[in-house]
Amino acid sequence: MNNAPLPATLGDPDTLHFLDDESVDGGAREAVWRLLVVDDEPDVHRATAFALAGVKILGRALEFLHAYSAAEAAELLRTEVDVAVVLLDVVMEREDAGLALIKTIRQDLKLTEVRIILRTGQPGYAPEIETIHDFDINDYKTKSELTRTKLYATVTAALRAYEQIRKLDELAFYDGLCKLPNRNKFIHLRDERLASGLFPDDVLAIVDIDDFSEINDALGHQQGDRLLQAVAERLKRELGDDVVLARIGSDTFGLMGARSLITPQKVLTLFSEPFVVQDDAMLVTATVGLNPLQGAAVTGRDALKDANTALKLAKKKWRGSFVTFSAAMGTDTRERVQLMQNLRNAVEREELFIVYQPQVNLASGKVVGVEALLRWQMDDGTFVPPDRFIPLAEASGLIVSLGDWVLRMSCRELVRLQALGFPDLRMSVNVSQIQFRHPEFLDQLHATLVDTGIRPHCLELEITESVAMEDADFMLEILHKVRELGISIAIDDFGTGYSSLNHLRQLPIDRLKIDRAFVSELNEQVMGGHIASMVVELGRNLNLTVIAEGIEDEAQAQTLLRLGCHEGQGYLYARPMTAAHLTQWLQNRRCAH
Ligand code: C2E
Ligand code: MG
Ligand code: MG
Repeated sequence: MNNAPLPATLGDPDTLHFLDDESVDGGAREAVWRLLVVDDEPDVHRATAFALAGVKILGRALEFLHAYSAAEAAELLRTEVDVAVVLLDVVMEREDAGLALIKTIRQDLKLTEVRIILRTGQPGYAPEIETIHDFDINDYKTKSELTRTKLYATVTAALRAYEQIRKLDELAFYDGLCKLPNRNKFIHLRDERLASGLFPDDVLAIVDIDDFSEINDALGHQQGDRLLQAVAERLKRELGDDVVLARIGSDTFGLMGARSLITPQKVLTLFSEPFVVQDDAMLVTATVGLNPLQGAAVTGRDALKDANTALKLAKKKWRGSFVTFSAAMGTDTRERVQLMQNLRNAVEREELFIVYQPQVNLASGKVVGVEALLRWQMDDGTFVPPDRFIPLAEASGLIVSLGDWVLRMSCRELVRLQALGFPDLRMSVNVSQIQFRHPEFLDQLHATLVDTGIRPHCLELEITESVAMEDADFMLEILHKVRELGISIAIDDFGTGYSSLNHLRQLPIDRLKIDRAFVSELNEQVMGGHIASMVVELGRNLNLTVIAEGIEDEAQAQTLLRLGCHEGQGYLYARPMTAAHLTQWLQNRRCAH
């Protein structure tokens, strides 16, 4: 058995394609997987290297690094980059040297991506289950278990996991188009710099390209993308490495660095020469919002918000120029106050109502549930989109009573539908963070269950990915309590927030909802397809149901089904409908099937 030839590669072609290396540095050196063997017995190093000599895994050769003590390993990991897997002996210079090293790796060095395979010579000496869980250890093996084939399989599984985590981090923190940190990363970096205390002189700026959407429409997306890349390149080159550059929105860049390095004049001058994009010289202007920070302990999120306030003001009055934020600016007040007032009136006048959008099983076409979506129609007939009024309702606290109302109404509606002969239907309700944080949330939820008589397992709460990831301990606790009531939980807009796989794994959730941005990109040969497939794979690995939202055509549905996605929702099946329409729709569909 040990002599059986190893296959050259494992995995299906799709996976290989998906795992293509897109490293930012252009991959000058042949892509390899870097494995670190940590063991105080030289024989184990030799045996490991021998067992895996010459093999390729997931299309890449292996490169070995060797450390003979935990201390040496820690030193290596401090300096070496891209180590994918650590094969780690438990007992070395001390009984628990290996376990201590794991803590160093995860907590001190903050290496969360590297996969760890624990090995021990002494059967029976196994670490506590909690250690394995808390420190995200991939595998635990006694050395005798590690025959050549088993070692190969173990390392392959670890490399797969590593690649998936890296993609997830990349997705969460990097902008693939301009090869820059994204908004999340930018906020993190600000927080890090703030915490370090080493950058008292920081300022933060947002650079927004004027009329970019017109340029995009006129010249096409490809040309628009190239223009963004050209702008990114110039900013990077001219501002230098001491300025942090990020792409924080579709046509906006974030800058952070010393006051002397980022002056609005300097930034605007960078736009005085045209950008050369595929033989075309394009002259574009930009508007800058500057947040001087002035040594204030402003967190990343708030700093960005203030810079954005300045930017908005600049856009309104002085395009191609800049505005510096001052505390007096506050937020874009008048408009919000007006809309807020209207919203309060709307609630009183009962201008708000709920529509329902069906969710289907992709393989069978069977309707499995509906999502409740809030609507606001003003008395002149126009709709205010929820993306606009929900944030307002959140900011004012109105969402607490509003959300409670949505929950009650939709539970009642489900009970009604079930009685009409759709007993297995599920109701998904969006819940915002403010609701979760309200001290009476759980009581209200419980009361809703009792009052409406809904069976708890037919109710699902949707929370957005970013909410699920914020304030981990709090969310973990409350989600567990929601689960204890028998209610299920879905992570909405998955792929857009920033997830750590470690955290995701701990959350008591039932479903991942792929954001519709990635579904709409499925037809094109771009990252989107990869992201959708990654989310499906991830969900399946975590034993979660995966649902895709925003499915608009049959091709997308077929692709998703092929990728292994379980459920779908989108205009292809039905638009969100009023309760009356939904009943009709369900009945028609039942007749047709
Ligand atoms: P969401 O929860 O991700 O809801 C899905 C959105 O996608 C809905 O937009 C839906 O109408 C839209 N959609 C569904 N299928 C398609 C499709 O095939 N193509 C396209 N282009 N769009 C599709 P909607 O209703 O505008 O809601 C926007 C967001 O507002 C929701 O995103 C949700 O985050 C929030 N929201 C809506 N109702 C509530 C509510 O009652 N409470 C809370 N807290 N948030 C809500
Ligand atoms: Mg939703
Ligand atoms: Mg969504």
